[in-house]
Amino acid sequence: MSKNLLIIDAGHNEYVAGKRSPDSSLLEWEFNDDMQRRVKKRSEEHGIEVFLTNPSPAKKNEIGLSTRCNLANNYWKNQGKPTCLFLSIHANALDDSWSSANGTETYVCNNCSNNSVKAAKLIQNQLVKDLGTRDRGVKYNNYYVLKNTSMSGCLAEVAFYSNKTEVEILKHKRNEITEAFVKAICAYFNITYIPPKSSNTTTTSQPSSNNSKFVKGDYNKPVKVTANELTVRSGRGVEFKELGILKKGEVVEIWHINTAKDGGLWGSLGYNGETGFINMSYVEPTNEKPKPVETLKPIQIGEYNAPLKVTADSLRVRAGRGTGFKEVSTLKKGEIIDAWTIDKGDDGKLWTSFRYAPSSTPETKGVGFCSCEYLEPCIK
Ligand SMILES: [Zn+2]
Repeated sequence: MSKNLLIIDAGHNEYVAGKRSPDSSLLEWEFNDDMQRRVKKRSEEHGIEVFLTNPSPAKKNEIGLSTRCNLANNYWKNQGKPTCLFLSIHANALDDSWSSANGTETYVCNNCSNNSVKAAKLIQNQLVKDLGTRDRGVKYNNYYVLKNTSMSGCLAEVAFYSNKTEVEILKHKRNEITEAFVKAICAYFNITYIPPKSSNTTTTSQPSSNNSKFVKGDYNKPVKVTANELTVRSGRGVEFKELGILKKGEVVEIWHINTAKDGGLWGSLGYNGETGFINMSYVEPTNEKPKPVETLKPIQIGEYNAPLKVTADSLRVRAGRGTGFKEVSTLKKGEIIDAWTIDKGDDGKLWTSFRYAPSSTPETKGVGFCSCEYLEPCIK
C-alpha cells in the first residue's frame, strides 16, 4: 500500500504579538496547535502518516516561514516523495477589535497544482458544511508557506476570532472542526472516513445536521441543549446582555428562529418571564417535553399556596403555630407539603398551615402547622 503523508503546519507561536481575540479569550497559536494535535491523532487512526513542521509552539518565538518550508520539503524528500498534502492551519481576524467579518476561507497559491485546489475545495466545503459558517470560498494568495513548499497544499482560515459568534466556534467546536478536516483529508487521499469511536467524550452536537434542521420562521417546538453551557441573551447575538445559562441536556421550547447580524440562526424562547434568545448551533431538535419554567416562591407571611419540602430529618406537625401546641404528626426529610398560609408562631418564627391528614380527623380536621425553618421552596 502506498503511503499517504500529511504535513501539518500550525500557524504562529506563543510569543508572536497580536493574533488573539479582542478579549484575549482565544489565542490563535493555541487554537492552531490544538487543532494540529487533534487532526494528527485522528488522521493517524486512518493510517495516514503525519509530520508537524511546528510541533511545539508554546513559549517560543516564530520559527520562521522558510524553516517551516524547509522542514516540510526535506521530510517529504527523505520519505521518497510519497503522496502528500501540506496543510497550514490558521484562524482569521479582521483587526484587533470585534467586528462582523465572518466565515471560512481556504487559500492556495497562484499557479498551484490541481491537487492543491482539490484539497482546498474539500477542506473549505467540509468546514462550511460542518460548522455552518459563511462560505468565503477558495482563494488564491501567494502565502510564503504555500509558494515555497514542493508538495500540494493549502492554508485554512477556519473562522474569525475577531467575531464574537465565531470565536465561540473556535473555542467550543473543536471536535467538529477536527472531524471536518479529517473527512476532507480522507476524501483527498481516497480513504474511507471512520467517525471517532468515543464521540460523546466532549461535544456530541452535530451542527451540520442541526443547521439543515433549523430554518428561519416560527418553530414552536422543543429543542435540547448540546453544548455544555449555552448562554441565553436579551437579543439575537453575543453582543446582547446575558440573561442566564442553559445546561447540556436541558429542553426548552423555541418560538421563532431568525438570523442574527452575523448571519447565525438564533431562536427566541420564554425565559424567567422575559424573552430570551439562544444560538441554534448549540441545540438539536428533540421529542422530549420542556420542563415547565417555575420560579421558586420565597417563604414569607401571607397566602403561600405552593409546595414546600422538608429539610430536617424529621419535622413535627403541630396543632397550632408554635412549639407549645400539641404534636399531631411527623414529616420525614424530602416530604413535600402544599403550604397554605404562612404566619408568625408563638416562638416569633414563621409557621405554615397545610393539610396533613384527611379532614375527617377529629380535633384538628387534618390541618397542621410546621415551622418554616425546616422547609424550603421546591418544584413539585
Ligand atoms: Zn494566522
